Amino acid sequence: MDETIPPTDPGNLQDYERAYNEFNWASINKNFDWSRGGVFNVAAEAVDRHANGPMKDKVALYSVLASGDVVPVTFREMSERSSRFADGLIKLGAVKGDRIFVFLDRNTDLFVSLIGIAKMGGIAGPLFSALGPEAVLDRVRDCQASYMVVSPYLYERIRPVLKELDVIKRFIIVGDNTGMGERTVRFDDVSASGDSEFKAVGMGQNDPYIIHYTSGSTGKPKGIMLGHKAMLQQLMACRNVVDLREGDIYWCTADPGWVTGTSVGILGPWYLGITIISYEGRFDPRTWYSLIERFNVTVWFTAPTALRMLMRAGDGAVQEFDLSSLRHICSAGEPLNPEVVRWGLKSFQKRIHDNWWQTETGAPCISNYRCMTIKPGSMGRPMPGVVAAIVDENGKELPPRKEGFLALRPGWPSMMVGIWGNISKFREYFYVPGWYISGDQAYQDEDGYIWFLGRVDDVIKTSGERLGPFEVESALIEHPAVAESAVIGKPDELRGEIVKAFIVLKPGHTPSEVLKNEISQFVRTRLSYYAYPREIDFVTTLPKTRSGKIMRRVLKAKELGHPLGDLSTLDD
Ligand code: ATP
Ligand code: MG
Repeated sequence: MDETIPPTDPGNLQDYERAYNEFNWASINKNFDWSRGGVFNVAAEAVDRHANGPMKDKVALYSVLASGDVVPVTFREMSERSSRFADGLIKLGAVKGDRIFVFLDRNTDLFVSLIGIAKMGGIAGPLFSALGPEAVLDRVRDCQASYMVVSPYLYERIRPVLKELDVIKRFIIVGDNTGMGERTVRFDDVSASGDSEFKAVGMGQNDPYIIHYTSGSTGKPKGIMLGHKAMLQQLMACRNVVDLREGDIYWCTADPGWVTGTSVGILGPWYLGITIISYEGRFDPRTWYSLIERFNVTVWFTAPTALRMLMRAGDGAVQEFDLSSLRHICSAGEPLNPEVVRWGLKSFQKRIHDNWWQTETGAPCISNYRCMTIKPGSMGRPMPGVVAAIVDENGKELPPRKEGFLALRPGWPSMMVGIWGNISKFREYFYVPGWYISGDQAYQDEDGYIWFLGRVDDVIKTSGERLGPFEVESALIEHPAVAESAVIGKPDELRGEIVKAFIVLKPGHTPSEVLKNEISQFVRTRLSYYAYPREIDFVTTLPKTRSGKIMRRVLKAKELGHPLGDLSTLDD
C-alpha cells in the first residue's frame, strides 16, 4: 500500500476527475481581455488590464532588496514603467523579435524590463545574476541577442568578454554609465524617452515572448522559446496547481532566470491580479522564514533543494517564526523526496504539492492538487487539459507500474514554440509519433499517479534490473545521518553497473567505513537486494546547477575520468 496524505479542503479545483473529463482549452479564453477585442500579448494581460481596472492601485510586487528595504509597485506603476521602457526600446532601434537580455538582480527593474520587452514584441532573455562571463557569452552568441539590460556591477563582470559580445548593439545600464563607453546607454534615459501610455503590441499565438536557457543538468543549455499563447496554461496552473485566490500574498522563490520564476513566478499570478513578493538576497533559512512572517505569505512556491536545506537547518529555525499565514505550498524542478513531504507536514502542518514540468513545457503539466490525496514520492496526475502517458519507444502506452518514457500529447498551450537555432534538437522531442518525449523516465500506478524514476540518461542498469536514482536517493535521505545524496550507475564487469552514492552528512556525523556499511544495509532492507549503493563517497557538497539541481552527469564523468562537458551552469 502506498503511503497517503488526504486533502483537508478542496481548493480552487473542487473535483479533479470531473474537471479533467470536462476540460477544454477554449473555455479558458474568456479569462483574457483579447477575447473581448484586446491585444494578444502576455504583458497586456498580466499588467495593463489591471492598470486600467479596479485593481490599478493594488500592489503587484513587493520587491524586497538584499538590504531588507521594500519597494512596493502597483499594477498602474508597473504598467506605466514597462510602457515607457518598451517605447524607449523602440526609439533606441529595437524591433519585434529582437532578443533582449536582462542580466539583473531580483529587483523592480528586472520585472519592468521583462514586461516591457514582451510589450514591444521582443523576446526577453532573462539571465540569472549568478552567471559568469562565459555563460553569458554562450547565450548571447547562441541567439544573437542585440540588447542587454544590465546593472553596473554585472557589466563589470562581463567586461573580459565585452569584445566578443559584439552582436550586442547597446548595453542598457541600470544606474550610472559614466566612463562605460559609447555602446552603453542609461536605462533611465531609455525609459524617459518612452511614452507611459504606450500600448502592448498585438502578437501571434506562437510568437515567442521569452527565451529561457535550460538548467544544463544533462548537457549544454538549450534556448527554449515560449509563445504568448502559453498564458492559457500559466493562468490555469496558477489557479489549479498553485491554488491562487484573491487576497493572496504569493512568494515564488525561483529566479526569473529560470522558467518557474517567470511562468508561475510573475505572469501566472499577475493574470489573476495577485500580489507577489520577490527577494533579492540569497538563500538563508531564517531570512526566508522571516519573509513569510513579515509579509503574511499565504502561498509559497519553492524547490526540493531549498526544502532539503531548510530541513537540514532543523525545526528550531521553523519554531522561531509565525508561519501560520501559509495556506498552500508547492514544489517543482526536481524530484521531491517523500521524507521532505513528511517533514513539511510535521513542521508547517501543510502538505507540499509536488508538480512536474520542464522549461520546454512552459508551465506545470503533472501535479498534486489541493483536492487530491497525496502519495509522497509521486508527482501527481496530469493537469486538466494535459494528456500524459508512459510509453515505449514505439509510442505504445504501457500498463500500470511499467516504467517507460514520460510523454505528453502535443497541443498543450504552453509547449515551447522552438529552440533557438536548433531545429533538429526540437524535432528530437517528437521522434515517437503522436507524442512529445520528455527525456524523463517514470511509471504510472493503478490510480493514475505518476512516479518519477530519473532522467532517461541517469537510469541505472544493475544485475539485469533498471533502477532510477531518485528511489535510492530518497531511501538514503531517510537515514538519520544523511542530509543529501546523489546516485549514479558505475560500470561494473559483473553487474553491468553498480549503484554508487555520493553523500553529504548532517552536521554532527563523521565519515567512517562503519557508517558506509550501515547506510548501505539501511537502503538494502528498504529497497531490494540490488538497489543499494555498493560504493559510497562522503562529500561536503554535491555539484548543482545554479537553479539548484543535482548534476549527476558531472559526478559520473568525474568517476569515469571523462571530460566534464558544459559547466556553464555549475554553481560554485
Ligand atoms: P537540461 O535540459 O539543460 O539538461 P534541466 O532538464 O534540468 O536541464 P529544466 O527544464 O529546468 O532543465 O528542468 C526540467 C527537468 O527537471 C525535468 O525534465 C525533470 O527531470 C526535472 N523535474 C522538474 N520537476 C520535477 C518534479 N516535480 N519531479 C521530478 N523531476 C522534476
Ligand atoms: Mg531538460
